[in-house]
Amino acid sequence: MKKKLVHVGVAVKDLSASVATFSKLLGLTEVPIETVADQKVRLAFFHTGCASIELTEPTSPDSPIAKFIAKRGEGVHHLSFEVDDIRAELARLKSEGFELVDEEPRRGAGGYLIAFVHPRSTNGVLIEISEKIGTGGH
Ligand code: ZN
Repeated sequence: MKKKLVHVGVAVKDLSASVATFSKLLGLTEVPIETVADQKVRLAFFHTGCASIELTEPTSPDSPIAKFIAKRGEGVHHLSFEVDDIRAELARLKSEGFELVDEEPRRGAGGYLIAFVHPRSTNGVLIEISEKIGTGGH
């Protein structure tokens, strides 16, 4: 199955400040912000020519992003690859011995189903597998 790198997730402490920084960096002003309640995060997407940049701010101390920042500081958090069939891809990865954080896909931002592959099995890089299920930017 073909995989396309659709975004790079960056963990940030202060979304407004980071949006200002990345807006200046990339010369972009229209930046959609979304909240994903079940991950306890707020997100801003910067659409570049190819993969987007996803800034992710925790909205609660028990958010996975808050834990990541506490342990490793702000910075690159995950790579997101889009596939046509997320369930088939998760089954394939599992059969190849990858450690799945999510056996079942769940709803992410931007009209996507998402699931994570544990960084223990991918050289320390958290991998997000996603499948587009609706409209909306990513
Ligand atoms: Zn992501």
